[in-house]
Amino acid sequence: MIEKRMDELIEIINKASIEYYTNDNPTITDQEYDDYYHELEKLENEYPELVREDSPTKRVGGRVIDEFTKVEHKVPMMSLGDIFSEEEVIEFDKRIKKTIKNPTYVCELKIDGLSVSLIYENGKLVRGATRGNGTVGEDITHNVLTIKSIPMTISKKIDIEVRGEIYMPKKSFDKLNEEREKNGQNLFANPRNAAAGSVRQLDSKVAAKRNLSTFIYHLPEPEKFNIKNHSDALEFMKELGFVVNSNIKVCQNIKEVIDYINEWTTSRSSLPYEIDGIVIKVNNLDEQKELGYTSRTPKWAIAYKFPAEEVLTKLKDIEFCVGRTGKITPRADLDPVHLAGSVIRSVTLHNEDYIKEKDIMINDTIVLHKAGDVIPEVVRVEKSRRTGNEIPFKMIDNCPICGTKLIKKEKEANYFCPNEYCDARNIEGLIHFSSRPTMNIEGFGENIVEDFYNMGYLKRVPDYYKLYKKKQELKELEGFGEKSINNLLDNIEKSKSNSLEFLLFALGIRYIGKKTAKILASNYQNIDNLMNASYEELVQIKDIGDVIADSVYKFFKEESNIKIINELKELGLNMNYLGTLKKDDKFNDKTFVLTGTLSKLTRDEATTEIENRGGKVTSSVTKKTDVVIVGENPGSKYTKAQELNIPIWSEEQLLSNL
Ligand code: NAD
Repeated sequence: MIEKRMDELIEIINKASIEYYTNDNPTITDQEYDDYYHELEKLENEYPELVREDSPTKRVGGRVIDEFTKVEHKVPMMSLGDIFSEEEVIEFDKRIKKTIKNPTYVCELKIDGLSVSLIYENGKLVRGATRGNGTVGEDITHNVLTIKSIPMTISKKIDIEVRGEIYMPKKSFDKLNEEREKNGQNLFANPRNAAAGSVRQLDSKVAAKRNLSTFIYHLPEPEKFNIKNHSDALEFMKELGFVVNSNIKVCQNIKEVIDYINEWTTSRSSLPYEIDGIVIKVNNLDEQKELGYTSRTPKWAIAYKFPAEEVLTKLKDIEFCVGRTGKITPRADLDPVHLAGSVIRSVTLHNEDYIKEKDIMINDTIVLHKAGDVIPEVVRVEKSRRTGNEIPFKMIDNCPICGTKLIKKEKEANYFCPNEYCDARNIEGLIHFSSRPTMNIEGFGENIVEDFYNMGYLKRVPDYYKLYKKKQELKELEGFGEKSINNLLDNIEKSKSNSLEFLLFALGIRYIGKKTAKILASNYQNIDNLMNASYEELVQIKDIGDVIADSVYKFFKEESNIKIINELKELGLNMNYLGTLKKDDKFNDKTFVLTGTLSKLTRDEATTEIENRGGKVTSSVTKKTDVVIVGENPGSKYTKAQELNIPIWSEEQLLSNL
């Protein structure tokens, strides 16, 4: 079984490698390739007796095409081991420290191109070669001579080999693909394949037109020049006239390495060329020697690869969710897939129009995208992967929960379940009521609300505040005990004193979110004033448009809603605006932007804290932004803040200022 899977993986990897390295035309994504490769590596670690001699994990990927003259590398050209998370970076540091006491690292951008070896004799360029299989490469001197950033002669009349990356700048790549599309030619999958396809041509006219460039990053025989550190080798090569990337950094410890990685994870899009990660190298060359090599990679260096922002996965089914307003949302059930640091199992498909526009079918392979803190979304269907087993999407006619015929209003994209008593709608409404941004009744997760609903304890909102009467019964429930029920009841009691805006948001009035609820609460101070407000009065309030005014007015005229509010009053809920504003100079009248994932506060909590101190939270960074608060994996807002020199706070700084 295991052996069969290993054989299968080797076959897939070998086939993909030929298409990628030899034909410069990948047929699977890098993420898929890396997943297969790591699965094989894992199996080989677990079952060393089954490792095949010809396993791709034992050699450097590329092959040499016969049309080119073969050249042997005096020092082998290796690949790099790869890692994908901060934990693995720390692991790498620990591994190094087993041999080296106080390593200094050099961090470099991992340029997404192909490696090249350049040999100079007496200061003159005599040969350029690809990495090939690491030992034998292809002679591409004729093409290398067309690349302007590679000097024909260097500043010293010495014999030297240097290595680096040939790449195609983003602009040239886009232009090339545009032209190819016009001419009906196949498009290059990425700038790396375009660069490789350009230098691995027999006719140098092709490469000459492709606007290729280089960065040099490796000196294979430093001892010849009495060089002690990798950073000195880079400096030396720069002096000789090579282009060395200017963003290289010497880091004194692993924390600085992690900072460098974080910095470039967010700012990579501002570079004019593609990078797919960060290369971390031990700086001292004697230490490098001490650490040595595996059969494929140096042990003194590693490539941290950026998390994929786009991945492929299979759409297994389409389900329908009923929201608290009765809105029906189709949701794709996916083969779980890792994307930008989290596992994605489902993704919203919004509505029928969206599915039709993207031509999504069940069993399709779809491309998912997620950048920074954005919710994942479907980019497109990979139609080339269709097998004929795809099932076209069909919108349902009836509510999947209560069976009521769905309605669709004119000009609206969404279908609704019109049944006010629909269980799904009720459950969603109750979940909304106790959720964190509304009444914040801690302990009432979605599952508990649903269970309590199905058991009959919680049918309407006022039931939350009557639960204490059932305390004895609840304590007997499986999975609960005295302590957890007491906690739940305490939290319910606490929520009674929430300021009015939380209740307004919790009631689920259409179009009333957190912000609008606060505007209404602060304008009317108590619920009676608001309930008596006319449409004309409401619409005059700043930031309240006619749709919202109409919705609020109608909500408070509805008999069933008035009944709920009266019941809640009787049950002792606060119905007044408590005005939590405590002006604080660090926040007052200042504009804040949040980016990335915060670990101690939710975004809503952070926003409330800022607003309670007189600050404002907006969604985009402009010159008027006063502070940007940065969590983990921040998005482009972080880069923009740096560009505009806007003060940046970490989550810790925010907390210490509260
Ligand atoms: P790699 O690209 O992951 O890393 C090694 C290479 O990084 C070096 O050879 C060098 O060319 C390059 N590099 C860029 N900047 C560098 C720097 N500053 N210092 C040192 N090296 C630098 O390894 P690889 O063996 O060339 O390729 C393996 C990867 O290629 C896989 O992980 C996968 O992502 C991709 N691949 C994809 C397919 C596919 O079908 N999609 C097939 C094969 C390989």
